Amino acid sequence: MGANNLVACTTTTGQQYLYEGRDLFADFRETTEEIARLQSKLREGRYSSHRIRRLYRKRTRRRDHAQDALVRDLMERLYDEGIATVYVGNLTDVLSEHWSARVNEKTHQFWAYRSFIDRLATTAEEYGITVEVESEAYTTAECPVCGERDDTDRDGDVFRCSCGYEGHADLDASRTFLKRQAGENTVGSMARPVRLKWDDHNWSELPHSPERASPNEERTDRSTGNGKLASVGTA
Ligand SMILES: [Zn+2]
Repeated sequence: MGANNLVACTTTTGQQYLYEGRDLFADFRETTEEIARLQSKLREGRYSSHRIRRLYRKRTRRRDHAQDALVRDLMERLYDEGIATVYVGNLTDVLSEHWSARVNEKTHQFWAYRSFIDRLATTAEEYGITVEVESEAYTTAECPVCGERDDTDRDGDVFRCSCGYEGHADLDASRTFLKRQAGENTVGSMARPVRLKWDDHNWSELPHSPERASPNEERTDRSTGNGKLASVGTA
């Protein structure tokens, strides 16, 4: 979970899902800035106003709506894949390790991490899926090919390693995280990731954009027909 991408998910059935969060996060930040602006104009001795409270409510409502819909969309997909257990990275680890204090604060606020986990667990229960929260320390810094942790670099969504490997930072991290929880051998080749974008009402799939195909993707494309399985179960 992060700010560019809200959730990156990998399954042992070879699926990857990426819920993109840039627009949502930008919207949240805009409202936060507007709140700060209004607060700075309050008369001395006043701490809030109707307008400020309304903005807070709007901000919370929008976030909750998107999170609710995300959790439901994901659980339906995982249920269709026959997933029994979901491991959720402990976001606080990642925040303290890799992110600047500024991003940190905003992301904490945006994520309302506890409520997200609660929401995830409650919805998962409806589908008979177990949720386990585990540390995802170092998954975002570790190269999925050579295991290097120190001589790697992240630039936006792009992960680069000194061994020459380049991939999607969040999807790779989610795959590494799954390997750590489920065991190296349970995580095989991956279908092309399903990317989803929020349009104020639904999470809808983005058309496949041409990406650098990793050897894994090429192998999977031949055997599973290009990730068609992933389109099953969209509400
Ligand atoms: Zn490497």
